[in-house]
Amino acid sequence: MRATGLHADVVVANSRVWQTSCTLVRAGEEAFCIDSPVYPDELELLPAVASQAGFTVVGLLATHVDWDHVLGRYAFPEASLGVGEPSAARLTGDPGDAARKLRAFDEEHYVERPGPLTLPPPQALPVPGVCELGPRTLHLHPADGHTADGMAIWIDWAGVLVCGDYLSPVEIPMISGGGSVGAYLATLDRLEPLVEGATWVVPGHGAPVDPVQAAAVLREDRAYLEALRDRGADAPLPLARRTDAQKVTHAENVGRVGAA
Ligand SMILES: [Zn+2]
Repeated sequence: MRATGLHADVVVANSRVWQTSCTLVRAGEEAFCIDSPVYPDELELLPAVASQAGFTVVGLLATHVDWDHVLGRYAFPEASLGVGEPSAARLTGDPGDAARKLRAFDEEHYVERPGPLTLPPPQALPVPGVCELGPRTLHLHPADGHTADGMAIWIDWAGVLVCGDYLSPVEIPMISGGGSVGAYLATLDRLEPLVEGATWVVPGHGAPVDPVQAAAVLREDRAYLEALRDRGADAPLPLARRTDAQKVTHAENVGRVGAA
């Protein structure tokens, strides 16, 4: 796991698998942990990363509730969980989904955990809206399209945008069940001005990027999605993201868009 300080109040850790991002953000005496790394040793290390930075984590936030983003309770078992209203609806609709998918991943990769995943009843946050952290305010923006839920978190005093599974330098746009190309494109339109005003952008997967890089990824992702919508399987993948793994994601996208 790699930890990067972006600001006195913001530290990002990236998991060894999928480079899944976890953002620790502090204001005053309190800190939140946004999303999570994946492996047990990384989750075990996270409280030490937080305390070395002088952060006291009191709450968890999740940009969306795909299983690899909601593991923070393993690191901070006492912390409350805040998610956007659409994410809360997803959790209510299928409360066992994250635990089931985590178990499948762990079985496939022979990963052992201290226990099964337990999620506390989440606090549903209005999106768009705000969320108080100590003396500061986090701004929540809708970010659906990858999934049916999703929120981007704008940390204004640090100039950091935590956008969830968008603007990734390492993976192409992924249209999961519940997501759609139209909603994804609308989210990119909403993120664009936030990216322009940011100092750092934290994608759900991949190391933090500066706004110039993030804007380049945004343009590539928009072009890819428009081509996916118009040309299906023939849509060219962004040049730097043409790995076999991304071709698999592309084939899945074609299937989902075709079925929609
Ligand atoms: Zn993800």
